[in-house]
Amino acid sequence: MHFKLNKTQPAQKLSSPSNLINYQLRDFLTGRLWLRDHSPFMEETINKHVQMGYIQTIPGVQTIASTNKLFSKINYICNRCQNQNPEFFATFNCANCEQICVYCRHCINMGRVSNCSDLMKWSGPKRKLNLPNHSKSNHSHIFHWEGTFTPQQKKASEELIDSVKKNRYHLTHAVCGAGKTEILFPAIAECLKRNKRVCVATPRTDVVLELAPRIQKVFPNTFVQALYGGAIVENRFSPLIVATTHQLYRFIEAFDIVIVDEADAFPYTFDKTLQQAVNKAKKPDAPIFYVTATPSEDLIEKVKKLKGGYSFIPRRYHGHPLPIPRYDTLFNYQKQMAKGKIPKKLQDWTNLRLANNQPFLIFFPTIELMEKAVPLFQKYDPQIEAVHAEDPDRKEKVLALREKKVPGLLTTTILERGITIPMVQVAVVGAESGIFTSSALIQVGGRVGRSADCPTGDLVFYHHGITLEMDEARKEIIKLNKMEVLT
Ligand SMILES: [Zn+2]
Ligand SMILES: [Zn+2]
Repeated sequence: MHFKLNKTQPAQKLSSPSNLINYQLRDFLTGRLWLRDHSPFMEETINKHVQMGYIQTIPGVQTIASTNKLFSKINYICNRCQNQNPEFFATFNCANCEQICVYCRHCINMGRVSNCSDLMKWSGPKRKLNLPNHSKSNHSHIFHWEGTFTPQQKKASEELIDSVKKNRYHLTHAVCGAGKTEILFPAIAECLKRNKRVCVATPRTDVVLELAPRIQKVFPNTFVQALYGGAIVENRFSPLIVATTHQLYRFIEAFDIVIVDEADAFPYTFDKTLQQAVNKAKKPDAPIFYVTATPSEDLIEKVKKLKGGYSFIPRRYHGHPLPIPRYDTLFNYQKQMAKGKIPKKLQDWTNLRLANNQPFLIFFPTIELMEKAVPLFQKYDPQIEAVHAEDPDRKEKVLALREKKVPGLLTTTILERGITIPMVQVAVVGAESGIFTSSALIQVGGRVGRSADCPTGDLVFYHHGITLEMDEARKEIIKLNKMEVLT
């Protein structure tokens, strides 16, 4: 773990209790739920604040009463990630308490939370939200954005501001390429103006890395903190945080508004603790703003029940329809690739792209299959590359495709959102695989035709049998294209 330490603050005079407060510590801990052993502050400083009652500590892992009355079994809860699944708890011989200690495996990569470890939370005098870090003078945020909105974007953006004012939930349903990030800017500005602390949470690290600098540019006078696994955590207060949903385990009643980006993407929808994390990180009466290209029925129902606002942008910012996927069979593609052969149809598709100098993406259901395929494709062009979620060079590779330094990429995941690759053509191999849910397929299709001067492109689902998910994706795209454009 890394910390960027600010200059130490001058010693506070001891004339009144509030002067005993280490403001840096207060600013850091405000809204956080932080492991005591992993803090960037001196133990002595922390102890003093605990004694004064300015820091509350709670055990990392607690036993809870069993709901099963027949068997008396000990159940645990992790107070950081809220995990209660017994499979994620393990014991170890603890050097700290010199006993057998229980720890949570679920959030272990944020530092081990166990029976005997404490989580800290600020319970002393509150900092005022409009104060800059460690100072008492007033501070104003600057909103600097020179882009323009389409009428639909403008409407959605105004609806969001309205929900900020009404402090209510909101669901923004925006198709891929609708320019959903920009729509958030005025709403975020409205929050900051009202001294509300905002968090933009997204399931994926690369989205944080892409979003944070864009948001920082728009709010140049505001400390925007990007939080993800391995990020440098600065020990000062940030009124605007861009974080992976996982990082919200480390917050408690911190935010006045949480914007959940890609609310229907993996792993947010599958991991209940991430949804709990969002609820824990926000203040009890704070609303959540969901943004997604593919809202589930559940999410729509939930926001409706909470009497939340709703915005819908069926059109891309350039006004052209979404590309409709076509189906093509690719029987026994796995067997053929195992034998070192690319199925004929896929060969032809690739060669056509190479001949026409059109950048392309080929999606694979698994890394194994993709890796088998790489050398086969490289026979056509040695510069074809492969990229997967954990590939450290994925950003560079996507950029190389955009700059036409590589002709095409094989990939297993949905690549960098926000990056528009003009003229890109997309094929999905094994579109029938379970990993390609209808929302994943819609997202994949969303890569095609993003740029205004080239709004179309080929989108083909190669399959070994058409699935319901494929049909659903196709139906949804056609439905969106038929929606009347609001002006
Ligand atoms: Zn945990
Ligand atoms: Zn212990």
